[in-house]
Amino acid sequence: MTMNRLICKRCRAGYLLDDSRWKCDCGSFLDIEFEFSFDIEKIKGRKPTMWRYREAIPINKDKNIISFNEGFTPLLELTIDGKKVLVKSEKLFPTGSFKDRGASVLMSKAKELGVNKVVEDSSGNAGCAIAAYSAKAGIECEIFVPEETSPGKLAQIQMYGARLIKVPGSREDTALAALEAAKDTFYASHVWNPFFFQGTKTFAFEIWEQLNFSVPDTLIIPTGHGTLFIGAYLGFKDLLNQNLISKLPRLIAVQPEACAPIYKMFNEKLREVPAIEPKETMAEGIRIAEPLRVKQILDILAETEGEVIIVTEKEIESSLFEISKNGLYIEPTSAAVIAGFRKYKSTAKEIIVVPLTGHGLKSTEKVLKLLKNHAN
Ligand SMILES: *Cc1c(COP(=O)(O)O)cnc(C)c1O
Ligand SMILES: [Zn+2]
Repeated sequence: MTMNRLICKRCRAGYLLDDSRWKCDCGSFLDIEFEFSFDIEKIKGRKPTMWRYREAIPINKDKNIISFNEGFTPLLELTIDGKKVLVKSEKLFPTGSFKDRGASVLMSKAKELGVNKVVEDSSGNAGCAIAAYSAKAGIECEIFVPEETSPGKLAQIQMYGARLIKVPGSREDTALAALEAAKDTFYASHVWNPFFFQGTKTFAFEIWEQLNFSVPDTLIIPTGHGTLFIGAYLGFKDLLNQNLISKLPRLIAVQPEACAPIYKMFNEKLREVPAIEPKETMAEGIRIAEPLRVKQILDILAETEGEVIIVTEKEIESSLFEISKNGLYIEPTSAAVIAGFRKYKSTAKEIIVVPLTGHGLKSTEKVLKLLKNHAN
């Protein structure tokens, strides 16, 4: 029997896909079970956007789709330190990061549910994406951000017409403020809301198609809450379930040494998130001390025989300069994954894909500071 539904992996409760809830009655986050099948010829005949994988995306009616024709980002071959790598240029999304994949699907669902206002909390890019797609959908939007977020991202959120609320303290304090607001407003959270991951999974479908409908050996992904990491897994798992690929790729998570709870849990086989005091890092987008879906991430690491790599500030900085010399301008957070690739011990024939998650123009003031120190 096929069954499309929201499902809690903790207590096994199921809910209708059209339920506007964002968490289980037991308090846990939800996932989505959704069955579909791909017809490759149909896919090939469609526009080059993430919505060419329409069957895979659980939105009922086409008229509810909120889209800027985003996605199908270029997959480019580079050589770094003499090693070949395929980089997927996710910085080319309408708002400048891959978060648009999730926002497009999540805000389409909000439209479908008749929602008229959403709240979201973010260290920057998810806020930009939800604000832009809310603007396109004609839905009111409130974004909570930590006080120290890059000014470029704050400007962008406000220009889309969203109300911006700066929260003093940590990223976790920001999340608590949004949770309070979400008590009576639709919570368009890129972490809690499972529809977001139904968007980020299209990352996997695009790679599969761009590799002539085959699977790479390894993906190396910058990971805080894991919205791209988990999405990539879900997409390749969908393909495996339909026998369209014969194995899953290895999934490697990259974290900054300054804030690396998943690294610690993976290596010390911890079952609960350790209390860590996050230090300053230029990888602001993945500075997450308490990742909500951490057990899911650890399960994926185990299932795909992956690992976690940590990178220092120095390594992130030198990788940012290195990748930019190839004509690819990315934000410092995104450079963490290049640093991770350089440390990763690959084999000669291994096909490795690395996303460039965010655009450099988002963090001009940070880059100016780096340039100044570089000159001295
Ligand atoms: C959101 C984001 C990531 C990944 O963060 P997660 O918390 O794992 O979803 C990576 N790079 C950039 C630029 C981002 O905005
Ligand atoms: Zn539950």
